[in-house]
Amino acid sequence: MNKPILVTGGSGQVGKELQHLLPNGYYISSKDCNLTKEQEVDKLFKENNFNTVIHLAAKVGGILDNINNPTDYYADNVLMNTLILNYSLKYNIKRFIGVLSTCIYPDTVDEYPLKEEVLHQGPPTRTNFSYGIAKRGMAVHIDAINKQHNKQYCYIMPCNLYGIYDKFDERSHFVSALINKIYQAKKNNAKEITLFGTGTPFQQVMNARDLARIIRRMIDQDVTESFNVASPDNMSINNIAEIALEACGCSYMTIKYDSTKPDGQYRKDACTKKMHSIFPDFKFTNLRDGIKEVYDTLDF
Ligand code: NAP
Repeated sequence: MNKPILVTGGSGQVGKELQHLLPNGYYISSKDCNLTKEQEVDKLFKENNFNTVIHLAAKVGGILDNINNPTDYYADNVLMNTLILNYSLKYNIKRFIGVLSTCIYPDTVDEYPLKEEVLHQGPPTRTNFSYGIAKRGMAVHIDAINKQHNKQYCYIMPCNLYGIYDKFDERSHFVSALINKIYQAKKNNAKEITLFGTGTPFQQVMNARDLARIIRRMIDQDVTESFNVASPDNMSINNIAEIALEACGCSYMTIKYDSTKPDGQYRKDACTKKMHSIFPDFKFTNLRDGIKEVYDTLDF
């Protein structure tokens, strides 16, 4: 079957959401093609006739795993991103959407929210420095290709994600880890949950399905611009935890903080003016509803 849209990272949480919205894509996981191995990437492009690449694949993980395994976060992401772009260029791929992250932005800037043009104004936060630099490198690579090879490849920078297809182990991101903590506490009849850090940093979080909806719209409207994708939900960790407890019917639980664990970046809310100028009518999933949906999928 001729499937012209390659979607890497098809087995990840965004990939699984996108499968529902863009069923004709050619979805691959690392088992179908290890994107860090050039022979496998070569074979993938040789055996197919893609015209579009949606690159979701990445080594992605939570804050502790990023701190403990920085080499893997750097090398795997640099290898994957370099190879997929080199082969997209070699096989004359017409449309390329690279999915980066707001983690690639400078740790601090003078003015918030983060606008696309401040991307290179300082180093990413220390807690995911390797991941941030590796993924920021893809923005540099795409901009360079557009300049040197007259392409219109683009990248998007989403805020933190959660969703029904997230991992619920040490690799989970903040919201999914929080939902899992509430779930485990409920299962064990506990009356409290303990979160890392102080609860004061801000997080901008979005349902992974909303990111998939944006990607689908980019394909439909043939968007070639690069921009941030983020919901209006930029709240303190404590605030998000309170909403989550309420959404899960567990408001009776108290929230404790383990301040011996790292807080992570204090804020990295992204400006969405550009995104809303491209998709003026786009509406994000309400955080409470999204959390409830995830909680309801967990198996008691
Ligand atoms: P995910 O659930 O962790 O999935 C990662 C995907 O990448 C999986 O399909 C995985 O395949 C694939 N992959 C990993 N290593 C690979 C390799 N060596 N070769 C080929 N494929 C490989 O990630 P996600 O949450 O869907 O994230 C999608 C994209 O959004 C990523 O680029 C990520 O950086 C970005 N992003 C994520 C977040 C977030 O909070 N999750 C926030 C902002 C941006 P296997 O299943 O076979 O391992």
